[in-house]
Amino acid sequence: MADKITYKDEKLTVSNNPIIPFIEGDGIGPDIWNAAQKVIDAAVEHSYEGSKKIEWLEVLCGEKAFDKTGEWLPSETLDILRSHYVGIKGPLTTPVGGGMRSLNVTLRKELDLYACVRPVRWFRGAPAAIIDPYRVNFVLFRENTEDVYSGIEFPKDSDGAKQVIDLLNELGEGHKIRFPESSSIGIKPISKEGSIRLFDSALQYAIKHNRKSVTIVHKGNIMKFTEGYFKKWTYEHAEAHYGDKVFTWMEYDRIKEEKDIHAANAAQSEAESEGKIIIKDVIADAFLQQILLRPDEYDVIATMNLNGDYLSDSAAAAVGGIGISPGANINYKSGHAIFEATHGTAPKYAGLDKVNPSSVILSGVMMLQHMGWTEAATLIERALEMAIYNKRVTYDFERLMHGATLLKCSEFGDEIISNF
Ligand code: NAD
Repeated sequence: MADKITYKDEKLTVSNNPIIPFIEGDGIGPDIWNAAQKVIDAAVEHSYEGSKKIEWLEVLCGEKAFDKTGEWLPSETLDILRSHYVGIKGPLTTPVGGGMRSLNVTLRKELDLYACVRPVRWFRGAPAAIIDPYRVNFVLFRENTEDVYSGIEFPKDSDGAKQVIDLLNELGEGHKIRFPESSSIGIKPISKEGSIRLFDSALQYAIKHNRKSVTIVHKGNIMKFTEGYFKKWTYEHAEAHYGDKVFTWMEYDRIKEEKDIHAANAAQSEAESEGKIIIKDVIADAFLQQILLRPDEYDVIATMNLNGDYLSDSAAAAVGGIGISPGANINYKSGHAIFEATHGTAPKYAGLDKVNPSSVILSGVMMLQHMGWTEAATLIERALEMAIYNKRVTYDFERLMHGATLLKCSEFGDEIISNF
């Protein structure tokens, strides 16, 4: 009998027949979800010879929800996602004038899914923007609940904007606003608690998966008390709680100051040979060029919300684009996780059975790994790579490859299954 996934003492319990809620998504959502569900079901059947099976439960959100219930995000959907712990979704339209900034942001906030996890790797044969794409293999942890995404903004001429500017004048900071009469105002909260829980998830991931480094990406040279403190708090946390497992660039700088650069380099080399994780940092703009020029220097990345948004799409482009880039939104403390395609609804392709379903299929792979069903996850990943390597791909890849065979969205899913 099908039953719910449960979570207790930081442990997920998954039966052989778990109920998993899914949101089909808007625009191209139904196209890619149908292909993905078929692939996931076939992989589970193939891997466990019928002893395991997912019981899918559709929950409404987005345009489908609005058409059926008059609400974009019915409370029943949130209740089901909360009580079932693990869910998966396609892309959702951002309602225009619907009273909600974005359904994705609302879902992340409501369930406090603070870590957006995006693995970025190259699949053999995929058309890539960089020369040696096989050097790319990192996992980006983006903070999901703070930063300018908090939605505290006041439009020009509003009472809110005027009051904030008045307060800044009282604090002696008003002169820093170049055009106070015509400014809109936005607020950027970055907390110690939020920074540490995100970074800790990234570091735990690095330890569990034998990764070599965690890089803190920030713009702390300019935003000293938000992005700069993200760097400070997370370095301090690593040293205070993971002392014997890590070597930080803070330690490197201390050794360099007390002794010299050779001693600091030697200490880092020794830490690397002992298998310690190197905790380092880089400024966001430098990082954007380095992931293109020296991608193999990066492994696990921890960053804040806005940086993470830019970085993940740019990194995805380096190895084939957002059509093939999966993601998960996770609260590692409560156990809630929603896996999702990272791209949008691409409305002009909706219903054409044309786009690349890899993003949501690979999100399914992440979900299977999260559930501990790793055999099925690995099977899909390899079969998808084989389809790309054999140049049997959807239009987005076909137009960038020589001699490729063009497949529809559904045919690409079937191609994966035929490679099992
Ligand atoms: P988009 O990602 O929907 O599409 C941009 C372009 O990317 C498309 O025109 C297409 O060329 C390409 N593309 C996207 N997905 C593809 C796929 N699977 N295969 C091949 N090519 C693909 O971005 P947009 O046009 O800026 O946004 C459209 C809507 O999606 C908006 O309402 C936006 O708010 C929403 N959106 C949702 C999410 C989400 O649900 N996670 C993310 C981003 C945007």
